Amino acid sequence: MKTQEHVVKKVLEDSIAQEMEIEPGDVILEINGNKIVDIFDYQYYIEDEYIEVLVRKPDGDEWLLEIDKDYDEDLGIEFENSLMDDYRSCYNKCIFCFIDQNPPGMRDTIYFKDDDSRLSFLQGNYITLTNMKDEDVDRIIKYHLAPINVSVHTTNPDLRCKMLKNRFAGTIMDRLQKFYDAGIPMNGQIVLCKGINDGDELRRSISDLMGFAPVMESLSVVPVGISDYRDGLFKLEPFDSRDAAEVIDIIEGFQKQAYEKFGTHFVHASDEWYINAGRPMPGAENYDGYTQIENGVGMVRSLCDEFYEALGEIPADDREYTASIVTGVLVYDHIKKLAEEIEKKFKNVKLHVYKIVNDFFGHRITVTGLLTGQDIKKQLQGKELGSRLLLPENTLKCDEEIFLDDMTLDELREALQVEIYIVKSNGADLVNGAIGGNS
Ligand code: SF4
Repeated sequence: MKTQEHVVKKVLEDSIAQEMEIEPGDVILEINGNKIVDIFDYQYYIEDEYIEVLVRKPDGDEWLLEIDKDYDEDLGIEFENSLMDDYRSCYNKCIFCFIDQNPPGMRDTIYFKDDDSRLSFLQGNYITLTNMKDEDVDRIIKYHLAPINVSVHTTNPDLRCKMLKNRFAGTIMDRLQKFYDAGIPMNGQIVLCKGINDGDELRRSISDLMGFAPVMESLSVVPVGISDYRDGLFKLEPFDSRDAAEVIDIIEGFQKQAYEKFGTHFVHASDEWYINAGRPMPGAENYDGYTQIENGVGMVRSLCDEFYEALGEIPADDREYTASIVTGVLVYDHIKKLAEEIEKKFKNVKLHVYKIVNDFFGHRITVTGLLTGQDIKKQLQGKELGSRLLLPENTLKCDEEIFLDDMTLDELREALQVEIYIVKSNGADLVNGAIGGNS
């Protein structure tokens, strides 16, 4: 395997690296005599009580550092490239890929398709396993890296090759079997496409994957997102409320079997299915600790439960306060109901809940996390916003105050002339922001 230079970007305070006088600009050459290919290797080789690290200083001197430490103690080094290797892009051409459905003119990184197994461990990304070499699979097993999050979509080999448009995609069951045999914890995901991998194909996939439980800990089923930018792409139909009800029935049938066998529900329908079917959200106990909340599984249940708990703990008073709340179309009814609960308890609090329609991607995209600054701005200009606007944090990039369309939070603030309160993804923060609390 080729290796690239691993340049130290930052050394954490009071870390082993600081004590050993490792500094930004140093290059880590070897650990215990082994060259380091990437972050997998690095994390594996530093897991010992005695390690030898070969470092090259900026003047060319090489230092061999002998380090005694606790078994799983980190060295406290951040590298210039967090993967310690090039990002691997994706060789699939999935018929449902959302990246292909982005409008033109967005920032370049939005169009980058990554399907890199190392991001599964570092960031929890879901990967198809088709962009991995056998040696990567072996390293995951050897290093016992976990959990691995797998975009399965279907266990039918021919169908998977068609859905991913990759003739090597049909070996998924063999790869999962390898991880299962090695006891590597896994989570699975199925993006469901109408008339393609639903119905009996969905039953087959869930049944096959349940064969890997409890090593495979959970499986989520989410509906495909369909934007307005599908010219020249595979024709996909949206699911209607009857389809959603059928998907839930299939999943809940398997949940009963899984619960009897493993004591967990294993497979979960994302919130979107329940909302589209007009059914109530399951209780918190059905979500097995919310392992798939990042995939929109249990977000509404978790938000509502936290909300009611927080609201119950705050004594009512007669404060006068008016605020407004941004929400996507999908969860509007839920957020409106929560706002009404606040108004009921705080008689002089008035909340305007605004349902923002997604003009940017198209009206079939209804989740709050895909709202853009320009749609929020356009649809709120001239509206009664009160003392502050509550904006869900998942509308912004995780590390920057910037929307998907590159509009900055400052630009929105300037355009609407209102204080913006970023609501963290929990119900307590929604209550706090809505009654004028500090962030
Ligand atoms: S694996 Fe992911 S990034 Fe690659 S084509 Fe499929 S959906 Fe798109």
